[in-house]
Amino acid sequence: MSETLNFKSPREQLCSLTLDELKERMKQVGVPAFRAQQVFEWVYLKGAVSFDAMTNLSKEFRVRLEEMFQFPAIRLIQTQESDETTKFLWELSDGKRIESVLIQSFDRRTVCVSSQVGCPGRCAFCASGKTGLIRSLSTAEIVEQVLHIDRILHEKGERVCHLVYMGMGEPLDNYDAVVQSIRIINDENSFHISQRRITVSTVGIVEGIYRLAREDFKVNLALSLHAPNQSIRKMIIPFAKKYPLEEILMAVDEYAILTKRDITYEYTLLADINDGPMQAEELVSLLRKKQCTVNLIPYNPVEYLRVKRPKGDRITRFRDILNDGGINTTWRYTKGQDIAAACGQLALPVTE
Ligand code: SF4
Repeated sequence: MSETLNFKSPREQLCSLTLDELKERMKQVGVPAFRAQQVFEWVYLKGAVSFDAMTNLSKEFRVRLEEMFQFPAIRLIQTQESDETTKFLWELSDGKRIESVLIQSFDRRTVCVSSQVGCPGRCAFCASGKTGLIRSLSTAEIVEQVLHIDRILHEKGERVCHLVYMGMGEPLDNYDAVVQSIRIINDENSFHISQRRITVSTVGIVEGIYRLAREDFKVNLALSLHAPNQSIRKMIIPFAKKYPLEEILMAVDEYAILTKRDITYEYTLLADINDGPMQAEELVSLLRKKQCTVNLIPYNPVEYLRVKRPKGDRITRFRDILNDGGINTTWRYTKGQDIAAACGQLALPVTE
């Protein structure tokens, strides 16, 4: 990757553009549209790390591209590896830092991307929300997390095949950039990751769920539920005060109907907060009639947060009650815990 990232660049970010938009920009400066296709191929298929590397384009055109666009928009600072998980630390044009995670499971390569620097959610159990929102990411800053990881995998003959918006940030609080990034990532001229293999996770931004349900693509939706009722939810998720559980579930039900996608409910088990048999029974009643999966995530301890992980027998009991109640349940095996790459552990990295 280029070491000459221009941090002060006022230029448009190349990876924020769809192919049609890039063609449009070419037209505006009198360049034939097929050139846009060539640039797209260099970026997304041939792994070019700079305009200079696009050797079938004339020198003059490459200089023009350099003047018009910023590419790349993020720079790899550090990687940390653990079992089947790799955490990537990136620097953005303004010096802010974000993280993404690559999870390798059998032949599946899943990238978990950040959508914001920090997060406005400030959930009690989550490292990402500790600082609040610093700023939202641009489309290019999201797309390039996938791009650069895909390039690294490509050298081993592998490709990114699944994508989850579950890193730092609340994706639906950065709606336009996230939706544009989905369009680019799903495009057959770029990664062509199927809509069925893309999941957006939200803590419950109601208007965002309704909007997403009406887009011309259908991605999976995961709701970070984490509580079976409004009162526990309000204790651990500040956004719950603005978006009552009842309203969120109505929006999510509509999402399921319009997209014909089953919903995943993420439920982080927190000791003595939401992990008792009573809460499990309540969760069964809440979800019994829905086509859904509950993904149980035993809490990954974060040093400076006071919430705790439940004991093993409480986790098993909770899961058994859900199973007995007919709820399809998965138990997320926690990968990457030792490098703080597990769910709820992506924190704002220190800027030097
Ligand atoms: S759980 Fe999600 S919404 Fe809550 S602070 Fe963490 S990243 Fe933000």
